[in-house]
Amino acid sequence: QYILGIETSCDETAAAIIKNGREIVANVVSSQIDSHKRFGGVVPEIASRHHVEQLTIVFEETMNKANLQFQDLDAVAVTEGPGLVGALLTGINAAKALAFSHGLPLVGVHHIAGHIYANRLVTEMKFPLLALVVSGGHTELVYMKEHASFEVIGETLDDAAGEAYDKVARTLGLPYPGGPHIDKLAHEGQPSIDLPRAWLGEGSFDFSFSGLKSAVINTLHNAKQKGIELEPKDIAASFQQSVIDVLVGKTAQAVDKYEVKQLLVAGGVAANKGLRTALNNKFANSDLELVIPPLSLCTDNAAMIAAAGSVLFEKGKRSDLSLNANPGLELLPS
Ligand code: ATP
Ligand code: MG
Ligand code: FE
Repeated sequence: QYILGIETSCDETAAAIIKNGREIVANVVSSQIDSHKRFGGVVPEIASRHHVEQLTIVFEETMNKANLQFQDLDAVAVTEGPGLVGALLTGINAAKALAFSHGLPLVGVHHIAGHIYANRLVTEMKFPLLALVVSGGHTELVYMKEHASFEVIGETLDDAAGEAYDKVARTLGLPYPGGPHIDKLAHEGQPSIDLPRAWLGEGSFDFSFSGLKSAVINTLHNAKQKGIELEPKDIAASFQQSVIDVLVGKTAQAVDKYEVKQLLVAGGVAANKGLRTALNNKFANSDLELVIPPLSLCTDNAAMIAAAGSVLFEKGKRSDLSLNANPGLELLPS
């Protein structure tokens, strides 16, 4: 079984082919980061235009790398949401055109389901499991009792973890996207500055990062007024420690409560070295199997969309040519 995956929900134009749901045959990602950098964030209109320009090139490279023809494919899987509506539409329209012209089934995929299924390209999933989703737009704990069933047991009430990273980075004058820069700085500094941790009450699996972000901004402002020089590396280390404490702490509580076999980590912030180390330390001596994909499968890619699409395809999901972008698409239990 060969599934072509297409991902254009934000600023990566990506296509990939996977075999039998688990094996990457080709995985091509064209990033637009350089075009958005000077604006300090993703500009939706620029993103859409880039996707349109890049899609055919990315398809060609993917088919060449896989050494396959479109007739060899079993289905086309495409991100239908959430994401930027214009950006999503470019991928959806390309997917529809391919599906229609080659007589292939079309499968719409939830972007976050894709992030979670990146883990299936690493190992077999064992249920029940918990996924910690930490990306640019989402911070969620997702319980899965079986394939393609997603129960969101906690989510962010305001900023996502990645968003907080990017905003704090911007405050420190670091380039976009700031996550990797903060990560690097954090390892050079000390978590010596006192910053809040939003636990949101006993037993809550929800998250909040906007207070932390404001605390960083206020701390910098107050220090400046008093003429104190704070080291950016210590700010980065303190911020990162606060994020990691909450993410790991809540995840550990959820793991206990839901008695899961596996913990999957997903999304761009899963590339964070501090978080990876903290999770490894926390769960090293437990029965829980911790899975963290390689960096290239944590940030946006289409192999993850094909991986989720493959499972949905086997479950009989088919989208027709009326498939539309849904920026507010929700993850649902089966
Ligand atoms: P979503 O998936 O929620 O729609 P997105 O697709 O934009 O959002 P991803 O591509 O999954 O998000 O992740 C991008 C985010 O990951 C950015 O906010 C970026 O700063 C963050 N990120 C990437 N690498 C690291 C790192 N090493 N440490 C912290 N954050 C990181
Ligand atoms: Mg991106
Ligand atoms: Fe993403």
